[in-house]
Amino acid sequence: MKNSLWEKQSFLSPDVIVIGAGITGLSAAASLKEQSPELTVSVLERGVLPTGASTKNAGFACFGSISELLNDVNTLGPEGMVQLVEKRWDGLQKTCQRLGRSMIDIQTKSGYELIFEEQSNIVEQIPVINELLYPFFQTDVFKTSNNKISKFGFANTYHLIENHLEGQLDTGKLISTLWKYCAELGIQIHTGCEVTDIKEQENQVDVICNEIVFKCKKLAVCTNAFSKQLLMGEYDLSPGRGIVMSIIPDSKLPFEGTFHYEEGYYYFRDYYGKLLFGGARNIAIEEETTTAFGVNEKIKEKLIDDLGNIILPGKSFQIEMEWSGIMAFGTNKSPIVKRVSDKVTIGIRLGGMGVAIGSLVGEEVAELILI
Ligand SMILES: Cc1cc2nc3c(=O)[nH]c(=O)nc-3n(C[C@H](O)[C@H](O)[C@H](O)COP(=O)(O)OP(=O)(O)OC[C@H]3O[C@@H](n4cnc5c(N)ncnc54)[C@H](O)[C@@H]3O)c2cc1C
Repeated sequence: MKNSLWEKQSFLSPDVIVIGAGITGLSAAASLKEQSPELTVSVLERGVLPTGASTKNAGFACFGSISELLNDVNTLGPEGMVQLVEKRWDGLQKTCQRLGRSMIDIQTKSGYELIFEEQSNIVEQIPVINELLYPFFQTDVFKTSNNKISKFGFANTYHLIENHLEGQLDTGKLISTLWKYCAELGIQIHTGCEVTDIKEQENQVDVICNEIVFKCKKLAVCTNAFSKQLLMGEYDLSPGRGIVMSIIPDSKLPFEGTFHYEEGYYYFRDYYGKLLFGGARNIAIEEETTTAFGVNEKIKEKLIDDLGNIILPGKSFQIEMEWSGIMAFGTNKSPIVKRVSDKVTIGIRLGGMGVAIGSLVGEEVAELILI
C-alpha cells in the first residue's frame, strides 16, 4: 500500500522519532518539545499499551534499600553509590514536578528493608551509608525501626530498617499522565507500530514499521530490554523478567509502605488494602533472563511461601492477579545513554530503577539529540 501525500506530510516525516513509549521514551519526547517547541516529534510503540517495564512494575518511588546501596558501594565505590542515589532522587523529583504529585498518586509512607538473622551485620552499616548520603539529603536517611516488626506482623525478621524518604506511586497513572502531557505538547504517539529496521541515509533515517516507512532527521531508541533486535553492534545488555502479584488479604493489612529484602530482589507494598508482592528473580536467574513475558511457577511458589513464612504469617489471602515485566540489566548499573551516530541516540538499560531515573535519562537523550 502506498501512502498519500497527506500522510507523508502530516504523519510520516517528523523531525525526531522516538522508539518506545515507556517512561524513558515518553520523557525524551517531552523534553525535546519542552526545549524546542518548533520540532515535530513522534513516538512509535509496538504495543497497544507500552509493553516493557514501565506499566508492569509495582510502583516504588525508591532510590535503593540499604543492602542494595552497600552492594553498590562494593561495586561502584562510595562516590559511585552516592551519584546513583542522587540521580534516582532527582529523577523522581523531575517526574513529580512535570506531572504533579497528585496526578501520579505519589505517597511518602516510608520504605523498609527486612533483615534476616544471617544479615544482622547490615544494621552496623547504617551510620556509614547515612554519612555518605548526608551532604545530599541533609538528614539521616536510614534508621532501625525494630519496634514496628511486631506491629506489622512479620515473622523471621530480625531488624527493620526504615527510610523515611521512600514512597510509592501509581505506575499506570504515571504513564497515562505522561502520555497525555506528550499529546498536549503536540507529540504524535503511534501504537501497534513495531519498528523492524532502522536505515541511516545521508540526510535522514528511515524507520521501518510493518509496511510503513517513517523518515526523520534524528532518532532516539528507548526500547530498553528489547534494543538488541534493533541496534547494530555489541551492547552489555541482558533482559531480566520480574513478576508482581496482587494479593487480597482476608483481614486488614497490618502495615503500610514499601518493603524490600535481599538486596531488593524481593519487594512488596500496600495498595489501597491490597498487597503487591514480587521478585525472587534471583532464584532462577537463567530462566528469567528473557524478553518473553510469563510467570515462572517456581518463583510464584517461592513468593507464596514467603507470604506465609515472613509477610502474612498465619493469615489467609487470595491471589487476585499476577503479571510480569521485562527490565534490562548490564554488568554496570548505569544506563547506556549515548549518540551512536550523528543521527541516532540511545537511552537504554534502565535496570531495576527506571521509574526513578527514567525522566532524567529521557532528558539526557533529548539533550544529545539537540546538540
Ligand atoms: C517487576 C518490576 C519491578 C520494578 N521495580 C522498580 C522499582 O522498584 N523502582 C524503579 O525505579 N524501577 C523499577 N522497575 C524498573 C522500571 O520499571 C524500568 O526500569 C523502566 O520502566 C524502564 O523504562 P523504559 O522506558 O526504559 O523501558 P520500557 O518500559 O521497557 O519501555 C520500552 C518500550 O519500547 C517498546 N518497544 C520495544 N521494542 C520496540 C520496537 N521494535 N518498536 C516499537 N516499540 C518497541 C516496548 O513495547 C516498551 O513499551 C521495575 C520493573 C519491573 C518489571
